[in-house]
Amino acid sequence: MTSDSGVYTLKELAAMDWSPDDITRARRSGTLIPVAHGWVRSATADPRVVAAVAAGGALSCVGALRFHQTHGSSEIWVPPGYTETHVRLSKHMKGRPRPSGPFRWCQGYGQPLPVVTAVDSIPIALGCAARCLTAEEWVATVDSVLNSTDWTIPDIQAEMGRVARAVTAMFGRCDARSQSGTESIARLRLIAAGFEVEVQPGIGTHEHADLRVGALLIECDGRAYHSDVETFRNDRRRDRMTMIDRWMTMRLTYDDVLYHWDGVLEDVRAVTRSDRHRIRRDNDPRRRGTASI
Ligand SMILES: [Zn+2]
Repeated sequence: MTSDSGVYTLKELAAMDWSPDDITRARRSGTLIPVAHGWVRSATADPRVVAAVAAGGALSCVGALRFHQTHGSSEIWVPPGYTETHVRLSKHMKGRPRPSGPFRWCQGYGQPLPVVTAVDSIPIALGCAARCLTAEEWVATVDSVLNSTDWTIPDIQAEMGRVARAVTAMFGRCDARSQSGTESIARLRLIAAGFEVEVQPGIGTHEHADLRVGALLIECDGRAYHSDVETFRNDRRRDRMTMIDRWMTMRLTYDDVLYHWDGVLEDVRAVTRSDRHRIRRDNDPRRRGTASI
């Protein structure tokens, strides 16, 4: 139950020990306001949730994921854009005219699941998002759920209803180790470009980079990850470790990965080209050794 959305079914209120008399009194005094048949809201209810329920369904997909982001699961990554209110319609709305407005009607694969609460759970929202987002965006979103919440893939699948083959295949591309949406998208794009990518490769004894392609370590700055002093210090310590081990490091920002990928890919190719490695080895002072002295 998402009681903190401020929108409730009468059944949910009963489960919270509201008697029919309590509900009648609250409706009369304006504490509870009707939204749709069988649904009421508080005066301070979340307006997006109210809009979704008034439209005949539940807030779902990216809308529900953004809701969960602001209600306890702040590390979930949700792709940019998708500004409409994503609504999963109740079966009672089947065949009825859909209200106009900035809505997007979402539905997961298979038989529609009943709408019993105003905001879809994370698994049901992901089921809808599988048909709304690009595969890359969806995998990055699931990575962030796996990394930052207690949900596991089997738990998510169990709550999702039917898991279509296409969705199972996308789950196969997810990686719970990913530390940010930026890192997930970079990983997926590097793999799609034919690179062999190691996730969270070890550096020194205690440190990890985000990704590794050949001798190139890639550090991805998730926006939220750059703000604190400790992260700043860790980044610098990692840079020293990589120098000792003679790795090359490329730092990518959110905008680099999301909006300037072609340029990034060109640079990664240039750095990882095999002849470049040869040049690097030829210049390696360990190889030149005593001969140069
Ligand atoms: Zn959607």
